[in-house]
Amino acid sequence: MSVPAYEYEGELKAIVDGEAIEALLATPPPGGAALDAILRKARSLKGLSLEEVAAILNLEDAAMLQKVYRAAAEVKERVYGRRIVLFAPLYISNLCSNNCLYCGFRRDNRDLKRKLLSPEEIGKEARALAEQGFRRVLLVAGEGRTGADVDYLCRAVEAVYRYSPLRIVHLNVAPQTVAGFRRLKLAGAGVYQCFQETYHPATYRVMHPAGTKADYGWRLTVMHRAMAAGFGDVGMGPLLGLYDYRFEVLAAISHARSLEQAFGAGPHTMSVPRLRPALGAALTEVPHPLSDTDFRKVIAVYRLALPYVGLVLTTRERPELRDELVDMGVSQISAGSCVSPGGYAEAEDPAAQFEVGDHRPLSAMVAMLLQHGHLPSFCTACYRCGRTGKRFTGLAREGDIQRFCLPNAILSFQEYLVTKAPPELKAAGERAIATALATIDDSNLREETMERLERTRRGEGD
Ligand code: SAM
Ligand code: SF4
Repeated sequence: MSVPAYEYEGELKAIVDGEAIEALLATPPPGGAALDAILRKARSLKGLSLEEVAAILNLEDAAMLQKVYRAAAEVKERVYGRRIVLFAPLYISNLCSNNCLYCGFRRDNRDLKRKLLSPEEIGKEARALAEQGFRRVLLVAGEGRTGADVDYLCRAVEAVYRYSPLRIVHLNVAPQTVAGFRRLKLAGAGVYQCFQETYHPATYRVMHPAGTKADYGWRLTVMHRAMAAGFGDVGMGPLLGLYDYRFEVLAAISHARSLEQAFGAGPHTMSVPRLRPALGAALTEVPHPLSDTDFRKVIAVYRLALPYVGLVLTTRERPELRDELVDMGVSQISAGSCVSPGGYAEAEDPAAQFEVGDHRPLSAMVAMLLQHGHLPSFCTACYRCGRTGKRFTGLAREGDIQRFCLPNAILSFQEYLVTKAPPELKAAGERAIATALATIDDSNLREETMERLERTRRGEGD
């Protein structure tokens, strides 16, 4: 199936120049002095060139890699402080007309029980998540069957706001036209997220044999269409394991740069989905497996090259690795995820998209973050106040995001402690809040935050 002509069709090469990226893969790893110079530049939050990224991706020396990881942790802390944002996916439909070889939702998986949640069922799922303490969700759906179109997606976003106290709804759904994106924005969507899966055209063709998703260019230009329609914040990330991860990371950074050039702001988030086994998938093994060391490198390199990006780590990864990676540049994590529609309210997982690697509930993730000295955040203020896209990037560049992020993280975490946290988390949670408050240098801002904290403790919301 082909898609009609679409905006930005002529710009594929400007977004990702595959030949230039293939050539970069031969870049030798840096020597000691060259690595120090690259990391000095990264620490000054200037980002990295594609050549510098390629050089780090080719590093194998363990001691040098440790230096890279430390620099990534420092950059994360300088931009976002100790706060780590928590969210959960909310699967609304597993109907799909595409046939992606790696996915349990693909059209040819006849064993999957198909489900399209009604607005009321979506509300029930959203309330189940809010009951755990979540404030932001990512709606996830299969693509392009009657009933799962843009009308349905708009109703789904509206249902979350209507039937639950969740405060912001992000989307990971099929690419739309500019007009479709405008409607989703009007319905109240926050970030639009879509993974290119692989930037390598020949691999893309093999992995996506049918449906609208078979068109590489339609997908590659989706971020441009979303931003043109008013989505200040978009999220991207290749599915790691389909092709050489070094090619994918270089291409994703190139994609990010093309958005910066066209819209004055890069992606709001970069995700690192690594291929998982999936019941009913056609792929039986990972075509280009990447080791945990490769995966650590990917995270560190994104943080150094795109210092202001929200780096998202999901429950695809196993607990020990997630616990390590939250100290290495990640700024957003999902928790307690169920990857099938209806799974939260029904407490069953009959129709999963892939195997989850970390089954710990939200409270266990909060406990882990506190043990590691992080401040768990449930903040949604940026999206609600319009601090998105170019405005967000501008503030982040001037170091101002912490002025907003830190007080809001403190207040939203206090709200969680008051309303949802199990008793055993409260003392450690209060200590984390006191530590975070002490790091607010501006005394007026600190006092204002303390007053608002008192109101939150009395149950007045963030
Ligand atoms: N259907 C839409 C699409 O494909 O863009 C949006 C939702 S899809 C369920 C979300 C993402 O799940 C896909 O973009 C893909 O990267 C990821 N995914 C699919 N199968 C996976 C697997 N076996 N392991 C890890 N991630 C997977
Ligand atoms: Fe459908 Fe998305 Fe799964 Fe592909 S990845 S089969 S489009 S749900």
